[in-house]
Amino acid sequence: MAKSTLHCSFCGRQRDEVKILIAGQEGHICEACVDHAKEIVQQEVAAKQEGPSGYKLTVRKPKELKAHLDEYVIGQDEAKKILSVGVYNHYKRLNQGKNQKGKAKANEAAEQIEIEKSNVIMVGETGTGKTLLAKTIAKLLNVPFAIVDATVFTEAGYVGEDVESILTRLLQVCNYDVDAAECGIVYIDEIDKIARKSDNPSITRDVSGEGVQQGLLKLLEGTEVLVPPQGGRKHPDQKLIKINTQNILFICGGAFDGVDKIIARRVNTNAIGFNVNKDLQDAMKNNLLKFVNAQDLKTFGLIPELLGRLPVVTYLDPLNPSTLRSILSEPKNALIKQYAKLFELEGITLEIEDAVLDFMVEKAMEYKLGARGLRSICESILTDAMFELPSSDLKSFQLTLEYAKEKFDHARMNILKVA
Ligand code: ADP
Repeated sequence: MAKSTLHCSFCGRQRDEVKILIAGQEGHICEACVDHAKEIVQQEVAAKQEGPSGYKLTVRKPKELKAHLDEYVIGQDEAKKILSVGVYNHYKRLNQGKNQKGKAKANEAAEQIEIEKSNVIMVGETGTGKTLLAKTIAKLLNVPFAIVDATVFTEAGYVGEDVESILTRLLQVCNYDVDAAECGIVYIDEIDKIARKSDNPSITRDVSGEGVQQGLLKLLEGTEVLVPPQGGRKHPDQKLIKINTQNILFICGGAFDGVDKIIARRVNTNAIGFNVNKDLQDAMKNNLLKFVNAQDLKTFGLIPELLGRLPVVTYLDPLNPSTLRSILSEPKNALIKQYAKLFELEGITLEIEDAVLDFMVEKAMEYKLGARGLRSICESILTDAMFELPSSDLKSFQLTLEYAKEKFDHARMNILKVA
């Protein structure tokens, strides 16, 4: 009789229905329930470590970071390498802080070496992949990521946004999980637009240029900031969230139109009297941005204090037809792969002639649209097909050069009409 009453106290199965029944003080548990309980415990522990927003920093070695970037971003090797090292050092520094707290003070002198922040500044034409690089790296590291535009800020007290609202964006991204936000990444776009205006008459204040640069200083360096949770201007009755920017990585990007002339002037002056070799001359012709340094950015109008807090400077190459062609089809979520997927979800195989890809690149170059324009070109060519095919019985769609040209010309006519 005792045998028949033995059962798992969790799932209720009888002794003869399970392999093992482990006895506790007042009940039993079977092997299936042990497994299930283990899973629940693991999930709960992981969730606690992740924090409420689900972000959990996973530090990667520079080579791993670069390999990951290679999957999503075409070319830009130098920027990828410098960014990978900068990001790795930044998070190593963050972990160092944590490890030190737990260690005995055996090696105090070594511990007092404080690694400084490696905020990064990227110089490159618009649409060359600056935002994409920052976004891709943040995703891999599993940290909150916010993009802000430097042009919306003004010095405190003037019409526009306070620089603190940068942190509001970061908090919003991670559902106000302050711990996660404090090791997030912020990408500040158009940093060149807040350059000091040298021809500014001294009676008017440069509230959207140098004033904003001054405002950014303390954020970039690392300090405790009180942030209005909904953004906008601070006001006295508002509840503010305290956030420490010490471990937030700031990556700034800008096109810095005209900086090439500043670089050319500097490089030429330095090269006077030397026999400049041919390689250097070629490099200078291809992309002068290769030589960009903090001094050039200072001449451009960024204040030295700000540049001091952006110690890692790198550049992006302009996109040429062959990079544009690769961007169309090679990255992990390349445009062409995305369209193929959209068609596949309808049960339709999309086949694209190589000549169509060349045509798209040609048009992007012709209209100086860069990589961003590739998407609108694809849309203009494929919209009709995406409209009609879901209601048809077709199982495959062949995108020919003739079809692409016809649709593109038609779409262009419409754009001209609107303009
Ligand atoms: P930027 O920040 O330099 O102005 P983005 O990173 O926003 O430019 O690029 C715009 C879009 O162009 C990206 O979303 C991406 O689809 C495409 N793109 C630009 N450069 C590259 C690149 N090097 N590799 C892959 N895609 C790119």
